[in-house]
Amino acid sequence: MTRPLSSSLKNNKTIRILLDAENRGYGIVAPIAYNIEHIIAFTRAAEAKRSPLIIQFFPWAITFSDGLLIHAGAHAAKNASVPIAIHLDHAQDEALIRHAADTLPFDSIMVDMSHHEKEDNLALTKELVAYCHERGIATEAEPGRIEGGEDGVADTSALDLGGVMTTREDVEDFVATGVDTLAPAFGNVHGKYGPKGPCLDWERLEFVRTLTKGRVRIAVHGTNDFSEELMRKCIKGGVSKVNINKSALEGYLEHRREWATKLPLTRLMEEGVELVVKAMERQMDICWSSGKA
Ligand SMILES: [Zn+2]
Repeated sequence: MTRPLSSSLKNNKTIRILLDAENRGYGIVAPIAYNIEHIIAFTRAAEAKRSPLIIQFFPWAITFSDGLLIHAGAHAAKNASVPIAIHLDHAQDEALIRHAADTLPFDSIMVDMSHHEKEDNLALTKELVAYCHERGIATEAEPGRIEGGEDGVADTSALDLGGVMTTREDVEDFVATGVDTLAPAFGNVHGKYGPKGPCLDWERLEFVRTLTKGRVRIAVHGTNDFSEELMRKCIKGGVSKVNINKSALEGYLEHRREWATKLPLTRLMEEGVELVVKAMERQMDICWSSGKA
């Protein structure tokens, strides 16, 4: 049973997008935008594929651009012919979360308190989820702790925190905070996987799905080295939000390295955008979101 939504969240774009994906068995590709080229490319791909989309920003984007990139993303989303939501990924700082919820056009925020001990994590998550909900913003949290780090997430690796797999108890405790989406740790890792590649604990994902009983959506993080088959197995396992980073941007980055000193800036940007559009279109096909908007 889907949990009844508080009135402030009835028209929330992230929730509507993810609910449709869960109900119809496809995944929403959620890439990270670092600049305006990425925003343009993600939006273009979504429109070309008639696919819903979630554009994500790291907290870095807020501080780096003083919020300008978020406004640009929201503007693109508002004018798009397909549903696009704007999401803040891995927000680990309470003050920044309040600032983002108060002043920036986010549809959803990941309240990531996973660097705290569990009791504090839960208390902070509950408080910040309520803060976001009062402003009509949906939330995501990480029960347990996903290993590794990404470019743009505040560096908590200095704290030397290892990964902690999501337990049954975590699932219940986090659903009780009122959060809308859970990002479980079931063997997934941020950044690079070891030589054996991703080794996921499917039974764990299965109990997350069973225990949540449709009360929250499920997100998968750390998909950098996922094959097409692995991605689809996650979606079949109940995942509706698929966070991606490298698979959207690796061609763009490679092109930059190769051509930055050889092409005029305008052409460099145009070709870079084209590469991101192609990569995104492929991911939308893999996640079965093409044609769903
Ligand atoms: Zn993540």
